[in-house]
Amino acid sequence: MHPISDHHFIGGELWRSASSARIEVLNPSSGLVLGEIPDGDTTDLDHAVTTAVAAGPGWADRSPRERSAVLVKLANLLRVHTEDLARLDSMDSGRTLAETRAQVSRSAEQLEYCAAVADKLEGRVVPLNSGFSASTMLEPYGVIGALTPWNAPLLQITQKTSHAIAAGNTDVVKPSPLACFSTLHYGMLAQEAGLPVGVLSIVMGGAKTGQTLVQDERIAKVTFTGSVKTGRQIAGVCGARGASVALELGGKCPLLIFADCDLEAAAVDAARASFGTTGQSCVSAARVLVEAPVYDEFLQLLKSETEKYIGGDPLHEETVMGPMISSAARNHVVNLLEDAISVGAQVAGGEWPIDPQKEGGFFMNPVLLADVPQKARIKHEEIFGPVTCIERFDDEEAGVRSANTGFFGLAAGAYTMNASRVRRLQRNLRAGNVWINCYKMLDPALPFGGDKASGIGRECGIDGILNFVKPKSLVEAIRTN
Ligand code: NAD
Repeated sequence: MHPISDHHFIGGELWRSASSARIEVLNPSSGLVLGEIPDGDTTDLDHAVTTAVAAGPGWADRSPRERSAVLVKLANLLRVHTEDLARLDSMDSGRTLAETRAQVSRSAEQLEYCAAVADKLEGRVVPLNSGFSASTMLEPYGVIGALTPWNAPLLQITQKTSHAIAAGNTDVVKPSPLACFSTLHYGMLAQEAGLPVGVLSIVMGGAKTGQTLVQDERIAKVTFTGSVKTGRQIAGVCGARGASVALELGGKCPLLIFADCDLEAAAVDAARASFGTTGQSCVSAARVLVEAPVYDEFLQLLKSETEKYIGGDPLHEETVMGPMISSAARNHVVNLLEDAISVGAQVAGGEWPIDPQKEGGFFMNPVLLADVPQKARIKHEEIFGPVTCIERFDDEEAGVRSANTGFFGLAAGAYTMNASRVRRLQRNLRAGNVWINCYKMLDPALPFGGDKASGIGRECGIDGILNFVKPKSLVEAIRTN
């Protein structure tokens, strides 16, 4: 499977853009051009939205079971093409093959979950005065505008579209220009699975294409995954025109290590939580908070785990960590590190400064920072790279207080063998997702989303699908003839 250059997916087919503007997509492992995408303009978007509007009533009228059948077929097709899709995502996003294969599998499961839930979107009978019969029905919004980030191209488009399409909406998706080729293949496989023309369109392009999409009055709801900054801009546009919006935004996730846990196992998981996906996951553990009595011992354990994460070609089976997505992304992390070190943070493990031999791709090996002063920017800003800050805390109350600082609230983790503490942590940690003695456990059946500035709404689980339907109230006065 090769990257499909120069096309959108509109009206059930690969569609050549009306505009001549193009964006080069780089392979982050080499820095070389992987392909070109069109920078979608108003003509492209108008075509996509018009097609989605036209397809809407027919798709919403299909029985839920008919819609499910298409999603199940698409899930099967993704599985058949696992290797090709995984390689494409690895070349494009720099994630290792192990990660991208797992994401194809997870994408298929996501479609199957939504297929299984589509016919369970039931309304209610509501008791009113005796002279009335009242009920609710759940109906789709209409056309959904979906904007996705680069860091999990196939899974992101699957997650966005599976909920919306299962619930009877149509979808216009704009993926990130940094990594997007597998989304066009997803579109074509959806067509092969029997998705009617216009139910799914994919418009390539950058921020301007995204802005134009969210401003389109025909888009009934916008679902966005990406940075807090962009999410807030989009929420402003949607608020101004009265459109519904769901946001899955950034994070700065704390991982608490208590003295009573299995420290060696926790160190293995903490390194994976911090440096897996080269730290470019919204739920990467950007802070590792360690209970004071075991701080020194845990620091040594984490330091030796950190050294196992060495950047390499994501297409090689043995590679544990790929490159960063772009030189701009790497520069952002380097700037945060330089700022932190200039105000007194200590490099406690990993590789710093970055190895100039690795030029060509956007590689960067992990860095473990200790004693990071409050005034360092890295203390407050999302890192989105292979860096974590280790801190110590004195007791549970202080640990939770520290974990809850800052405006992000996407996820938090804790390692402890104290059962009562587990209950308290689940209640007291301010995050949409709390993991105890595990990290980044995600599942299509589990709602996922952020607390505080990390998001609005949930994806996955029943709550994820309910994001894409709205209750309509129906009241009938009972007349006697
Ligand atoms: P981004 O905000 O730069 O871009 C996301 C998408 O929005 C892209 O398709 C982009 O082209 C588009 N876009 C950019 N500016 C826009 C604008 N003004 N109007 C409309 N669309 C616009 O994010 P990114 O760099 O692609 O992704 C990284 C971010 O995504 C990180 O902050 C990460 O934490 C977050 N993320 C969150 C989740 C989650 O589920 N909460 C999952 C993955 C990534």
